[in-house]
Amino acid sequence: MSHPSYKSDPDLGASVRDHLQSIGLETPMTKQVNLDEAVKIDAIKRNFENIMDVLGLDRTDDSLMDTPSRVAKMYVREIFWGLDYNQFPKCTTIQNKMGKNSPSSFVVERNINVQSNCEHHFVVIDGRATVAYIPRGKILGLSKLNRIVEFFAKRPQVQERLTEQIAETISYVAETPDVACYMEAIHFCVKSRGIQDTGSTTCTLAVNGAFGETNSEVRREFLNIARGTTIIQ
Ligand SMILES: [Zn+2]
Repeated sequence: MSHPSYKSDPDLGASVRDHLQSIGLETPMTKQVNLDEAVKIDAIKRNFENIMDVLGLDRTDDSLMDTPSRVAKMYVREIFWGLDYNQFPKCTTIQNKMGKNSPSSFVVERNINVQSNCEHHFVVIDGRATVAYIPRGKILGLSKLNRIVEFFAKRPQVQERLTEQIAETISYVAETPDVACYMEAIHFCVKSRGIQDTGSTTCTLAVNGAFGETNSEVRREFLNIARGTTIIQ
């Protein structure tokens, strides 16, 4: 597998996978997920040729000729590489020396780009996520929050599960129960087909620990920050 431009940590990936499986939050997958990259690309290419043939597209045309292999490579290397836990980002942490558990200080990373695909139609989900956690013993590098979001976005998804997977994984890696993830996204399966609503967005929220307590100060603060921006101008 080729994608990520950053270091991956397959061992951490495997333990995140086991954790998500144990709490019923894993994306439904079969053992096929472990096939070689080249085998996957070849099989998807052949199957996409069939789809184009059935649609009546002339694959000998210059413009269409390379589409099956282009689509196959895009699936495996660009938009669905997050199915492969060998690509899970390395998440170095540092000791928290700022005093454990000061309940009001949380770390927030706002407006993280979310480019995913819906698992029901395989079309684009385009959105933003804001994530926060209250550090206990460990502090995560800020870019790790973006990378965890990106990893789970790069697989066929439903937004509710994506939001929960991100929150749960940050909680697991940073070893803190106090985590929140808010996501707002445009679903192209809503925009370009079906009901064809171009102006609606879907908002999801996963809150654990202190963020999950109704009326808690951190929850209110987090929601103010997260909802302070909108993806639709
Ligand atoms: Zn859909």
